[in-house]
Amino acid sequence: MNEPSIFTRIINGELPCHKVYEDEHTLAFLDINPVAEGHTLVIPKNQVEFVWDLDEADYQALMSTVKKVGKRLHEVIGKQYVGQVVVGTDVPHAHVHVIAFDTPGEMKRTLDGPGAPADNETLANLAKTLQFS
Ligand code: AMP
Repeated sequence: MNEPSIFTRIINGELPCHKVYEDEHTLAFLDINPVAEGHTLVIPKNQVEFVWDLDEADYQALMSTVKKVGKRLHEVIGKQYVGQVVVGTDVPHAHVHVIAFDTPGEMKRTLDGPGAPADNETLANLAKTLQFS
């Protein structure tokens, strides 16, 4: 077994997160260095480094949660589009970035790496608004 990733430690409750959604196989929470308001990460509970190495059931569960989160962001953030990006150069635990945006430039910023650290209270309030089950 690999060393627990920072995301596994969040799943296990050893580290905090601003949770948006959780089910048996996946967890969604706000990125602490958002590139846009509501920037959410969706992760599988099984620690696998790359999205394409997930077994089929975990992959389907991950993408099902991405879809739910995307719809939720669209409803709450009120931007025209929602995009999803897989990068994975910083945290070796599969994750999908889900971001609401109006212009392609806003979406492309995700590829430039994390944004600036967000204020904890702002994230906590936003997570409360976004949270769904
Ligand atoms: P990447 O691996 O390049 O796809 O990016 C990893 C993302 O995880 C970055 O956007 C980080 O801001 C984000 N991140 C790292 N640690 C945490 C954490 N403890 N809680 C929320 N987001 C995190």
